[in-house]
Amino acid sequence: MSACPICKKRDATETFKPFCSKRCADIDLSRWFNGNYAIPTSEPAPMPDPNNSADVVPYSRED
Ligand SMILES: [Zn+2]
Repeated sequence: MSACPICKKRDATETFKPFCSKRCADIDLSRWFNGNYAIPTSEPAPMPDPNNSADVVPYSRED
C-alpha cells in the first residue's frame, strides 16, 4: 500500500486509489480543476463577433 498523496497519513484504498478516501480524491480533483481552468489575468480579449459588431465597445486593456 502507498500513502495517500493528499493527507499522507492514511494508505490508499482500492476504491479511491491513489487516495485514502473520497474526501481526499475530491480535494485532488478540485486542485486539478482550479489549476487547469483558472482564467489567467492576461487572457486576450475575445474576437469581436462580426454579426454583432454594434455591441462591440472599444476599450483599453491593462497588460
Ligand atoms: Zn487521504
